[in-house]
Amino acid sequence: MKVLTPYDIAAVRADFPLLRTTVNGKPLIYLDNGATTQKPRFVIDAIQQYYTLQNSNIHRGVHHLSQLATDAYEVTRNKLKDFIHAEHGHEIILTAGTTHSINLVSTCFGKAFVKEGDEVIISAMEHHSNIVPWQMMCEERGAKLKVVPIDDDGVLDMDAYARLLNDRVKLVSMTYVSNTLGTINPVQQIIQMAHENGSPVLLDAAQAVQHMAIDVQALDVDFLAFSGHKMYGPTGVGVLYGKEKWLNAMPPYQGGGDMIKDVTFEKTTYNDLPFKFEAGTPNIEAGICLGASIDYINQIGLDHIAEYEAELLHYALEALAEIEGIRFIGKARERSSVISFLIEGTHPYDVGVILDKLGIAVRTGHHCTQPLMDRFGIPGTVRASIAMYNTQEDIDGLVAGVKRAARMLL
Ligand code: PLP
Repeated sequence: MKVLTPYDIAAVRADFPLLRTTVNGKPLIYLDNGATTQKPRFVIDAIQQYYTLQNSNIHRGVHHLSQLATDAYEVTRNKLKDFIHAEHGHEIILTAGTTHSINLVSTCFGKAFVKEGDEVIISAMEHHSNIVPWQMMCEERGAKLKVVPIDDDGVLDMDAYARLLNDRVKLVSMTYVSNTLGTINPVQQIIQMAHENGSPVLLDAAQAVQHMAIDVQALDVDFLAFSGHKMYGPTGVGVLYGKEKWLNAMPPYQGGGDMIKDVTFEKTTYNDLPFKFEAGTPNIEAGICLGASIDYINQIGLDHIAEYEAELLHYALEALAEIEGIRFIGKARERSSVISFLIEGTHPYDVGVILDKLGIAVRTGHHCTQPLMDRFGIPGTVRASIAMYNTQEDIDGLVAGVKRAARMLL
């Protein structure tokens, strides 16, 4: 089978300097994109350009450089608005990443709307960053955390979800795409059911935005969280989208510069959206350069990326299935380009170490989803996660590497 590429994959790969590196004397095969993606020259150049030509603090100075940096930062906000089809730019809060975004909502939404006896719903496949903030908030406010179970294929039990919805449920927070199983959750249905119950929904889109087009207005989702570094952009920046009505109804997250309108020792009035949630000097460089990564993705087109990654995933699943003793963890029909597996009689860590010796970067362990590992009764998995620059040859290298690891370990 020849996987067809709807874009010039050689040209795309040439844009990513680190893909040309060698590891242990072997050409790198980078399949840890779920953890973080590599950065195109376009983004790296933007970072250099920022420090060479624009560096200044934003939203404060009247001087030329400050205006320049402020404008560039706000251009990114506008690009993000268009990227996820938000109605207003001020519904885009720039954060440090998905974890920060979810903590912001759990804290501020919790303060405004959650009281003793209330409930929050998550799922059994959540990343720790969509579990722990809710646990902390529920503990503080005397609320209960309810968990939607999954089946053996890693598919959400929608009947169980329906049974969990009741008038005590103040919010539903679910992952769009599982970082361990690759499952794409039926988010439209999840949101519709929650809304019929009067509960808003937060989607953790950390593993979704770089793989598929998202329209927050069409989804009618209330909050959406994602990270720049998983979408070919810099680390230290991410996004919280929130509907204006929710963001306005929530108290600020942190106090400090930028989030205020007026301060006296007696009383402070808070700034308007989005600044109310953006206290202090942000990661200006990362914020500006996230705009470059969006330009880069748009130039290739998310539809093309989704089409290609789906083909490559299909190829990889078929090729890996030929390996004796392989057990896939996560077999949902609707899935994204994440493949978790085990080789019978081996530990995932040992497989990962041998793959590394061969220049192949995969993730091993629990992938910050320990309760999910407990659900499957396993200590961890080997996880290969695909990005738009991976090739059929990368997959062939992975399959050969796993076969070799199995031969060495068994
Ligand atoms: N949610 C999911 C589904 C993830 O995969 C990750 C990171 O792997 C996160 C949240 C946390 O993202 P970050 O560490 O960028 O805040």
